[in-house]
Amino acid sequence: MTIDIKATLPEYAYPPYNADAMATTRASLHTLGCRLNQAETSILGEGLRRKGFELVEFGQPTDLLVLNTCAVTDDAERTSRYVIRKTLKHSPHAFVAVTGCYAQTGMESLKQQAGIDLIVGHQYKLDLPAYLPSPHELRKRSVAEVQHTKTIARGNFDLPHFAESDSTRALLKVQDGCSAMCSFCIIPFARGHERSRTFDDIQREVEVLAARGYREVVLTGVNVGQYAYQGRDFCSLLRWLDQAADFERIRISSIEPTTVGEELLDLIASSKKLCPYLHIPLQSGDDQILQAMNRRHTIKSYIKLIERALVNIPDLGLGTDLLVGFPGESETAFQNTLAVATDLPFSYLHVFPYSPRPGTAAMRLKQRIPSASMKKRADLLLALDRAKRLAFHNRQIGSTVSVLFESGRQNAYRFGTTPNFTRVSITDSGDFQNRILPVTITAATDRCAFGHIASAHPTPSSMGVI
Ligand code: SF4
Repeated sequence: MTIDIKATLPEYAYPPYNADAMATTRASLHTLGCRLNQAETSILGEGLRRKGFELVEFGQPTDLLVLNTCAVTDDAERTSRYVIRKTLKHSPHAFVAVTGCYAQTGMESLKQQAGIDLIVGHQYKLDLPAYLPSPHELRKRSVAEVQHTKTIARGNFDLPHFAESDSTRALLKVQDGCSAMCSFCIIPFARGHERSRTFDDIQREVEVLAARGYREVVLTGVNVGQYAYQGRDFCSLLRWLDQAADFERIRISSIEPTTVGEELLDLIASSKKLCPYLHIPLQSGDDQILQAMNRRHTIKSYIKLIERALVNIPDLGLGTDLLVGFPGESETAFQNTLAVATDLPFSYLHVFPYSPRPGTAAMRLKQRIPSASMKKRADLLLALDRAKRLAFHNRQIGSTVSVLFESGRQNAYRFGTTPNFTRVSITDSGDFQNRILPVTITAATDRCAFGHIASAHPTPSSMGVI
């Protein structure tokens, strides 16, 4: 079934702008961290536009900076503080509003930092535009105003409005929060318990996104596999999207291993729209460390899951997260991680050095890993990541794949992605933005695969390789 969007485009899709305040005051937004944060920044950007701000590219002189922070590592917090200082250097009078995970968990230290005017915790994050003065009244405050609460509501949610994005991939937030309480992770403290977006609200946004011409939608959340709303679980949400929505591609951003079952694998294998791509965080290749991390899977169950996935979806693009230097990670435990990461056919690895997060259970663990060892281990995994990416790209040389092209170009190169999340580059000068075209892969590096537009158009393939 296809939704007839244009005939019934709801009024809320394009509300009128505030003409008085329009295009007088510049605002820039910046996101640190995950895809979910990116999705939320787009929603905030739309809220600012509706309020009458003129959006400018981050890094340009601005009157307002909205910074959507991350708290997953020390480094992410440091970067937040650096971005604020840097913005105030080129725009000393800019009003600075900070939200995101670090705003929730590090509110006290942000209050001490000069130059911040507004701090908005997670409970009120998407209402941030409402807490700002109107564009013509915007001026710096002497003390930061705080919209913050320690507890975050547990109920399911709607979004205040939908994002407008320049990207050819629409990020669709379907879930928030996490109740898994992995011992190293600050996300449950920053985003609260798991809860799901109401199905009606998702349905409304899907109609709007399809009407805007998106070809691909990416489902985002903290723990998307836990989606549950009035008897609808994640698989039934996917099944509805697969049948009812007008997108050519539906991608899952990242999903916990314990929430990937036969039903999901069968769905991906049988669908022409669901991308053959899974990012399934492993974190460690050692059972004792997994237990100390309070992860819900074992190495055996994870390997079994990947083997099952590959039987169902042979051309799967497979990514994972690995955390190195968790307290107590012995050399043997690390070698176990290296061995599992080497043996499994990952197409890429995201490697994170452990960073003690206040309030988490792992903070209390004594056997900290010296930073030099942590760096050495991270470097080994990063080298493996490059080798995995190269092997994954090389495997596709000679095949013709379908590529959704992004906007813009870098020098002579245009970029796009395949369903299994191979980044592809071509040097053609045509206008390919938001088009899905067949590309024959001729060469590869660890960064991307290179090719040229194939003469024949692709036959849709659930595996991305035609
Ligand atoms: S599953 Fe674990 S690592 Fe992932 S967000 Fe939840 S607590 Fe954090």
